Amino acid sequence: MSVSELASSIVESPTLRLNEEARLLRERGEPVIHLGIGEPKNKTPIPAILSSAAKLSQGDVKYCPSDGLPSLKKAIIRYTEEAYDKVVAPENVIVSSGAKQALFNILYTILNPKDEVVILAPYWVSYPEMVKMVYGVPIVVTPEDGSFHPRMADIERAVSSSTRALIVNSPNNPSGVVYREEFIAQIVDFCERKKIYLIMDDIYHKLVFDGRVAPPCYRFTTKDLEDSRLIVVNGIAKLYGMTGFRIGWCVAPRKIVTVINNVQAQTTSCASPVMQAGAEGALLGLQSVVESLRLTIQNNRDVAMRELSSFNGVKTYKPDGTFYCLPDFRAYSSNSVELSSFLLKRALVVTVPGREFGMEGHLRLSFAGTVKDVTEGIARIKWALDPTSPNDIYIGDKRLIRDWL
Ligand code: PMP
Repeated sequence: MSVSELASSIVESPTLRLNEEARLLRERGEPVIHLGIGEPKNKTPIPAILSSAAKLSQGDVKYCPSDGLPSLKKAIIRYTEEAYDKVVAPENVIVSSGAKQALFNILYTILNPKDEVVILAPYWVSYPEMVKMVYGVPIVVTPEDGSFHPRMADIERAVSSSTRALIVNSPNNPSGVVYREEFIAQIVDFCERKKIYLIMDDIYHKLVFDGRVAPPCYRFTTKDLEDSRLIVVNGIAKLYGMTGFRIGWCVAPRKIVTVINNVQAQTTSCASPVMQAGAEGALLGLQSVVESLRLTIQNNRDVAMRELSSFNGVKTYKPDGTFYCLPDFRAYSSNSVELSSFLLKRALVVTVPGREFGMEGHLRLSFAGTVKDVTEGIARIKWALDPTSPNDIYIGDKRLIRDWL
């Protein structure tokens, strides 16, 4: 069967593949611990359920404007004002089926074939693939000092006359790093001067720990939004634990939103109004759900850090936000894909290989699950890798003896 060269060059989403592997193992009754998953455990907030249910029970679920339900857009404008201190117009907002679709639409809208997009490693797995899907060229900038903080000088070196955009994700999936204020300020200034679009993927922006905040890009520009190069992507998936609703949005200059709207109208018509109503419910409902999620995962982060620090050889950066950490496992293996499969096979723990995020030798561990999952999952990894740990362990009701170290 023939498929296009471009389509066949796009790699499978490793995180979705691992979710499927874990699901199949669980179906066979295996006591798998999923430290790969990128979604919080909380139930959908009640206002989101009620709002979606109300829309559904009217029995009148039809196409809606392709840029989103006007009432949801109003809630997004309010959210943008509260979270970013930025007043935007309805024409600056477009709702999509998840932040993922918002990002894809943006790239489709701004790139010509062979245009380059600068991506900062470690990066979210989908950025390079999405850039390739619209015939663009991903240019990855990796911090040379082994840290997760890219340097401005490296970014400047990576930029060419073909660069059209830079994607910044802070708080960062997979490292949990929140980029410093000076860095965001420099990047905003640089992109404005060079007329490069700055795409801020802010999907985790309220999940920040220890009293810190993720510096919003708008703070560092004096330009009117219409003349700026700033595009901010957001959604309800992570902050409200509403991954299955598939609602995200972007805030951008009107000219960009108009074209994205045409693209979206020709591809998906609109995001489901039932789910949009749910998103509206979440945004207008009590915001303590976000704070309570933030506190839960901050606690999980602390537990994960404590457990990892008992490990000989594992180096880890303490995340400032998100629900991921990206420990360095090179003391055990420099091949993260092999290491991740080994851990799944021997210890029934799902991890995501760092190679997928441009950081070979690391594994991404998610602490979005329960404290029990985090503690037990890391204990299993320790048992499988660290010769100083006891060589037997209970996994489910089976006592296993380690015989490979
Ligand atoms: N950006 C980042 C950095 C993410 O981690 C994710 C989800 N894993 C998304 C975007 C996509 O979000 P959504 O579920 O709203 O499509």
